[in-house]
Amino acid sequence: MIRWLTAGVNAPLLVVCVAFGGYTVAFGNPYSFYVMAIAGCYALLVVGFQFIFGHAGAVSLAQAAFFGIGAYVSGLLGIKLGWTFDVTFPLAILLPTALSVVVAIPVLKLEEHYFALATMGLGLVALLVATQWVALTGGMNGLAGVPNFIVFGFEIKSRFDKLVFIWSLVGAGSLIAWQIMRGLYGLQYRIARENSTAAMSVGVNVSILRFVAFVLSAAYAGGAGALIAHQIKIVSPQNLEFAVMITCLTMTVIGGRTHVVGGIIAAVVLVHLPEWFRVLQDYRLLAYGAAALLMVVIAPEGIVGALQALRARVLPEAPPPVPKPRVHTVRRSTVDSGDFLLEIQGLSKSFGGLQAIRDVDIALTPGEIFGLIGPNGSGKTTLLNLISGIYLPDRGRVVYAGQDVTRAPAYRIARLGLGRTFQNINLVGDMTALDNVAVARANLTGASLTRALTTLGRDGALHAAREHAVHLLAAVGADDVAGQRCDRLAYGVKRRVEIARALAIEPRLLLLDEPAAGLNEAEQIELSGRLKALTKDGLTILVIEHNMRFLLPLAERMSCLDDGALIASGTPDEIVSNPAVIEAYLGAPEDEDA
Ligand code: ADP
Ligand code: MG
Repeated sequence: MIRWLTAGVNAPLLVVCVAFGGYTVAFGNPYSFYVMAIAGCYALLVVGFQFIFGHAGAVSLAQAAFFGIGAYVSGLLGIKLGWTFDVTFPLAILLPTALSVVVAIPVLKLEEHYFALATMGLGLVALLVATQWVALTGGMNGLAGVPNFIVFGFEIKSRFDKLVFIWSLVGAGSLIAWQIMRGLYGLQYRIARENSTAAMSVGVNVSILRFVAFVLSAAYAGGAGALIAHQIKIVSPQNLEFAVMITCLTMTVIGGRTHVVGGIIAAVVLVHLPEWFRVLQDYRLLAYGAAALLMVVIAPEGIVGALQALRARVLPEAPPPVPKPRVHTVRRSTVDSGDFLLEIQGLSKSFGGLQAIRDVDIALTPGEIFGLIGPNGSGKTTLLNLISGIYLPDRGRVVYAGQDVTRAPAYRIARLGLGRTFQNINLVGDMTALDNVAVARANLTGASLTRALTTLGRDGALHAAREHAVHLLAAVGADDVAGQRCDRLAYGVKRRVEIARALAIEPRLLLLDEPAAGLNEAEQIELSGRLKALTKDGLTILVIEHNMRFLLPLAERMSCLDDGALIASGTPDEIVSNPAVIEAYLGAPEDEDA
């Protein structure tokens, strides 16, 4: 009971929080209760901001706008209509949430820096409305007379009671945020943020994750804004101003972008700083900016991240527990794909003036291993990117498992059971090999926000994904590194982890881009045996390789690309004796061991 309740909780930090809370309650005065309650409002704002800024990794500058809108909604409805907090609070969450949904659709598609600008624009519009619509908002001065919190008929009057009320909501909001991110659903955010190409290749819809994060951050900001309106009892444009945004950003950077408790601690400390140091009052923003900058340089993961790193150095951590391998196959519903599992017709792609792929036709029959060779720069990787949806072709068609996927996004193609690896390995360096593989199970096993919110206790889906991941790592001979961070692995091992990750989506077709590169001869023979074993279960493999000693015994059929066009296709024997192939590729000895 205690164990599953505290799984993943940083005990020392929790002790600090409880001690600080106890101190505030025992030795505080009404004024310190008041300040601490305001810190609670900021804590909730920061926990919400962690969704978009931390987990989704997108710089949104709209958080203060959502905060201010929440404050105005709850405050104005209280002042003008006398509505009580139990009614206005949900509305204060709802309006920013609805606004974020509307804004997200055009804005989230933008490139990173334009996204930041667009969200800043939202903040400016909100500020303009708040200052100019004087009849409603009271303009620059705002409006006083926001009523006390009234919840189900109870009026919360004393400063101490408000403190308890606000911090109860902070607690609830934090638990929900933690609950969303701690399981298999949350793990997807890490791969989406660190390597969106890899994420898409295992069926993660990166845009939807960002959308959800943005909407959640707006909901939290709205709620936090409602709290502060009733706490300070006025609504004014101050809650919308850019200063709030800078404060929120600083708190999030200092606390740690993805650490709930860190964010709360940073909010408490930064709200109190001007109280502790009077000189800070005038130079607050300057100090915050400097602190954030310093933090980015010395501890990019914030105080909690820095503490964790420190602890890891002082007490070398036991490697995280690796579960026993266990197969959890989820059979995807497959359509009969006819004679060919993959059919490419007339595929062409150019980059500016460079024609990388010209008019390529390939058809793969189920269960075969198909080799693709060609000199460097002949377009092999580009062809894989076209098939897997990373690039859109200029002309031609790709039919996979009976479906036209020519213009389908990469994550959807992956969900049809097409797995791949990358020539330049795309693993998340600071995640374990185990989790790099386990995360690929998320889509297949139906990880969702609703399930994350309703799964109390241990996330069985994450555990099952990890058990299956160990099984797959064993299948490629990499289970001994399951608990290690991927950036510390040897090159050849990384390649095998990537193959395990591609297998985790239970593909029918596997695309491998130079899987033997960097492997020694014994490893190559071993890999070759493992790949052959996989096709026994019906897997089809398209493999790009330079190493002919590896490829020739493995592939049943082969094609050779040169300058973007197929120059030969046939059995390995036919290919090696084909004059065009010898001329373009095999004859050039420097390519042979490239
Ligand atoms: P290979 O994998 O056979 O070595 P690639 O498919 O990586 O070759 O590259 C084929 C050609 O396309 C190269 O000239 C490369 O520079 C070009 N190319 C590949 N990707 C891009 C891109 N995203 N933008 C511009 N040029 C590209
Ligand atoms: Mg390549």
